Amino acid sequence: MPRFGLLVNYEFCVGCRSCEIACKMEHARAQDEWGIRVQRLQQGPSEGRIYYLPVPTDRCNLCGKRRARGLKPSCEKHCWTGVIKFGTLEDLARSMKGRQKSVLWVPH
Ligand code: SF4
Ligand code: SF4
Repeated sequence: MPRFGLLVNYEFCVGCRSCEIACKMEHARAQDEWGIRVQRLQQGPSEGRIYYLPVPTDRCNLCGKRRARGLKPSCEKHCWTGVIKFGTLEDLARSMKGRQKSVLWVPH
């Protein structure tokens, strides 16, 4: 049985929070409930660049109902920069090779 996750290539995340809103709308979450949160990362001062990292919460179920209908997870669909990618852990780990600033989340 394959296991699934979300690969986040955060080098290209602009912090727009569309993924947060898409998740909230898809799952009709309450105002203070989130399935994914975008964190602001402060790198070393010499680098002078701010990065953003979307982090799934314990509420993320990897959009099981959408996937049962053959659809992508809502956060992946609405991330216009292509930062979030759903897949099997094996496929995602393979596609991480040679990449920088990537995180593989396995929320559950
Ligand atoms: S996979 Fe679905 S439940 Fe998980 S963060 Fe993305 S939109 Fe939310
Ligand atoms: S992951 Fe995509 S949708 Fe979410 S904040 Fe980054 S660029 Fe925006």
